[in-house]
Amino acid sequence: MSQGPSGGFSRNQTFHSQKNLPALGLPGQTIGNEFARNPQGLVFDTVLGGGAMFVDPPLISSNLAVNEGMMFHESLHELGLGDKEIQETLHLTVDSKNTMNITDKLEKDCVNARGNH
Ligand SMILES: [Zn+2]
Repeated sequence: MSQGPSGGFSRNQTFHSQKNLPALGLPGQTIGNEFARNPQGLVFDTVLGGGAMFVDPPLISSNLAVNEGMMFHESLHELGLGDKEIQETLHLTVDSKNTMNITDKLEKDCVNARGNH
């Protein structure tokens, strides 16, 4: 069991044993098997309201701007905002199964917008 820099949590940490782990976790589910069940789609998992952010390194984009957009996206979760709330606030299609529109919007407006680099 290795522990990363995310507050001492490990990949084998169960969601239910820490009240501040992601609310979507099921009892007994680990961070590792959450990533394993979504091998192509779950890059980050962030605790709403702060505390920890988990990353599945093989899925990180090679595009720096995409990664920066993703970090903005996840940082909003650290502030306590859920995907639905972010999508509504940014006037995006609300879709709990596809939240990449948040990352795309933040990348476009906050990273690649004219005058930002
Ligand atoms: Zn999200």
